Amino acid sequence: MNSEQLALTGWGRTTPSVASLVNISADELTQPGVLDRLDHAGRGIIARGMGRSYGDPAQNGGGTVVRISDGEIAVNSAQGSVRVGAGISLDTLLREIIPLGWFVPVTPGTRFVTVGGAIAADIHGKNHHVDGSFGSHVQQLTLLLADGTQQTLSPVGKHADLFWATVGGMGLTGIILDATFSLIPIETRHCVVTNERVPDFDTLIDKMIASDHLYRYSVAWIDLCATGSSLGRALLSSANHATLDELRSMNPKQTMDPLAYSPPTLADIPSIVPNVINKLTIKAFNELWYRKTPKLQHHTETLTAFFHPLDMVGWWNRLYGRNGFIQYQFVVPDNAIDGLRAIVEKVAAHGHASFVNVLKRFGPGSGGYLSFPTSGWTLTIDVPSGVDGLDALFTELDEMILAVGGRHYLAKDAQLTPGVVNAGYPRLDEWKAIRRTVDPRRRWASDMARRLDLL
Ligand SMILES: Cc1cc2nc3c(=O)[nH]c(=O)nc-3n(C[C@H](O)[C@H](O)[C@H](O)COP(=O)(O)OP(=O)(O)OC[C@H]3O[C@@H](n4cnc5c(N)ncnc54)[C@H](O)[C@@H]3O)c2cc1C
Repeated sequence: MNSEQLALTGWGRTTPSVASLVNISADELTQPGVLDRLDHAGRGIIARGMGRSYGDPAQNGGGTVVRISDGEIAVNSAQGSVRVGAGISLDTLLREIIPLGWFVPVTPGTRFVTVGGAIAADIHGKNHHVDGSFGSHVQQLTLLLADGTQQTLSPVGKHADLFWATVGGMGLTGIILDATFSLIPIETRHCVVTNERVPDFDTLIDKMIASDHLYRYSVAWIDLCATGSSLGRALLSSANHATLDELRSMNPKQTMDPLAYSPPTLADIPSIVPNVINKLTIKAFNELWYRKTPKLQHHTETLTAFFHPLDMVGWWNRLYGRNGFIQYQFVVPDNAIDGLRAIVEKVAAHGHASFVNVLKRFGPGSGGYLSFPTSGWTLTIDVPSGVDGLDALFTELDEMILAVGGRHYLAKDAQLTPGVVNAGYPRLDEWKAIRRTVDPRRRWASDMARRLDLL
């Protein structure tokens, strides 16, 4: 075990707070009395994975933040599943399982997240409309409870309530020690991808509705600087895993070693860089990005290029400069298309610099009490922190989202209020009741939990 006092932030690099960061093996963490010793300041403990959530859920100012430093991977090929230590990253896991012909059931836009973080946020990927969220694939997990005992949880049966309070529970029911979940069989490390330029919002919605059942993965990058007749213009990218036969016919050279996997990092952004992301650079970038994509393109891409292109640039979050950036993600129901269009109009009219704007379709949610995904449309917006008028814009957007029955993603949040979360998550009180039964003395605590009144 090692411990240091450190200012921690999320990936957005806003709202730092100083905590005692403890790197500890799962074995040490579960020894009798260790939790009492770690909670010496009386401000509680929170687990942290790779700090890839954007806001403050893996921070605990004045208290303790725990990172599990080890873990094993045990693939069960007969069952198509894997048992993994919760501190293991998807990066490490993919390097092990892709050469064996398996892929994770859900991956976010980065592979630098831990299994614990994936379950605690019940993450979604480009395949939510087909496969649901990460928690839907978890067969069993081991939870370290506030009293130092361990509980094995599964989605059905005796402790199912605690399982579903933990899936999406942002680390506030206990520390996940390991999990068993199902895998997707693959024949190659490639996808067959169709990219398409879409001229406006209405065409985009129609195309996504019409084509989603044809593709396991689907995502649209939206140009939120475009207005008028180009409002909502986008690049729609849809894919399936490439079979060996497909690879043979489309790109025979790649069939040499079809499951070899070693994702590259092309560059690291240094720790101090000027903020290069502003209205002008974003507008120019968006124009270029939209124009550079052929109107229709059908080709193969590696898993890295399709799922994790941002990972090729290490610490790209530093490009936003010292103030960091806010990522704002929400979901609105399937039938709230007019509401979604009004939101896109509002953001475009505001004219701020928004860079990574992504629209996806969600299928039905998992059983997680605080799980974010639910049937509908989810839009993600990135904005440099401190832009004029941003707070007012978000307040207006919050109201528009709640008015159509939507909600916000806690793993991206750094600035919501308790009222907004209460309104968006109808099962919040049930979740709080379960949490209190397993943690009556509020051992688990985070900056987010205090800000959003979750304890
Ligand atoms: C570039 C980028 C792209 C992303 N794309 C997506 C996306 O497409 N879909 C999506 O859903 N998310 C996405 N995310 C968000 C990310 O998947 C989640 O925030 C995820 O939770 C981060 O995992 P982490 O291991 O870094 O956890 P952290 O950020 O360190 O922690 C997140 C939460 O998990 C809890 N936690 C961590 N480990 C444990 C544990 N062992 N036991 C209990 N609780 C634990 C923490 O307490 C905290 O509440 C993206 C993030 C980035 C930076």
